[in-house]
Amino acid sequence: MDNNLKCEATKCVYNMNRLCSAKEIEVQGEDTMGGRFTFCGTFEERGIGNMVSEMGNMNLRAEIKQLFSDEQEMDPMVGCNARNCIYNQDAHCHAEHVNIVSEIAETAAQTECQTFYPR
Ligand code: SF4
Ligand code: SF4
Repeated sequence: MDNNLKCEATKCVYNMNRLCSAKEIEVQGEDTMGGRFTFCGTFEERGIGNMVSEMGNMNLRAEIKQLFSDEQEMDPMVGCNARNCIYNQDAHCHAEHVNIVSEIAETAAQTECQTFYPR
């Protein structure tokens, strides 16, 4: 299932206008009971070198479609190991909408899944 995902972590190499251009992301959280201990493990700080090295996980087809569409085309698959989240089933996220923050994040650990909701 692809997830409707918005992301405020604009310093990430995959962030395009607050959408995520990765094909897949991996949210981390293990046995946390609070959303602030979750984070997007796929975050990579934007830099000249890694724009090219991260191309393998980029959803280029969706990026091009997004340029000509008002619909949200970039919807990555969301793997997740935060097993106490109500939306987690078999290490995949089944939330209709996922919100990742924050704008000031410079590392993966500084991001957070705001959609986390404890079982
Ligand atoms: S932080 Fe995660 S969800 Fe946000 S753009 Fe980067 S890879 Fe995508
Ligand atoms: S909503 Fe829950 S299952 Fe989905 S990515 Fe966030 S923490 Fe993981």
